[in-house]
Amino acid sequence: MNAPETGHAVRLDAVSKVYGTGGGTVVALDGVTIGVPRSALTAVMGPSGSGKSTFLHCAAGLDRPTTGSVTLDGLDITGLGEVALTRLRRDRIGFVFQSFNLMPALTVLQNVTLPSLLAGQEPDRARVAEVIRRVGLAERTGHRPDELSGGQQQRVAIARALVNRPAVIFADEPTGALDTRTALDVLGLLRESVVEGGQTVVMVTHDPVAASYADQVVFLADGRFADRLDRPSADQVAARMTHLGAWEGRPAGGASKGGVR
Ligand code: ADP
Ligand code: MG
Repeated sequence: MNAPETGHAVRLDAVSKVYGTGGGTVVALDGVTIGVPRSALTAVMGPSGSGKSTFLHCAAGLDRPTTGSVTLDGLDITGLGEVALTRLRRDRIGFVFQSFNLMPALTVLQNVTLPSLLAGQEPDRARVAEVIRRVGLAERTGHRPDELSGGQQQRVAIARALVNRPAVIFADEPTGALDTRTALDVLGLLRESVVEGGQTVVMVTHDPVAASYADQVVFLADGRFADRLDRPSADQVAARMTHLGAWEGRPAGGASKGGVR
């Protein structure tokens, strides 16, 4: 966190997020200061309700902090208006969701081309073909999502996130709906976009094995920064999670043997 600003693809400074008003307020983030290093894979972990998704949404400009500031790709986005934020998300950010969020009526090729079309740009056909090849779906360009497995659908979503060469890819539980083998495949792709594409990936996960693919793991608890581990093993992550007291959707200690597999 003492690194110079240029070392960070994303920075949150003293970010708090309060939902609701009056007596019904929830403090989802409580004074969080975290820097995400460039060209690295950062995993965000923590018990259910600890603020992981809120962190991701604030970091990506999908939601606004109540107080504090967010810097993305060198730009202070805190005061930006809706139009500027929309442009920023389009040009500098890629998203991958647990539920894939593909357009069911469109083919693989059309889904990956869509971001350019929505941006009113002439799609770069060569680039679209390149990212589809990179995620291993060159033979499936004419297929629709319901003709693909979950892992293949997530690979389409990753290709779609990569196509405009975003500075940062945000992923909320990208392997949450996948079986172990397919999850590893998808994690390998995200790592590859860091190693080969120089991209920055911020990934929320509750799986210690997934987190072990990260360069750093940031832990949240009760909306606060709780800890950070550099290049931890799955066992180290699991031990830290157990210590934080809870597993998402699982009884505490339910994965004390080194991972959810
Ligand atoms: P996580 O992703 O770690 O499970 P979230 O960031 O989704 O946690 O939520 C953190 C806290 O903020 C929770 O108590 C949740 O109920 C609350 N929260 C999240 N989004 C909203 C919202 N839109 N309105 C009210 N409370 C919310
Ligand atoms: Mg969440």
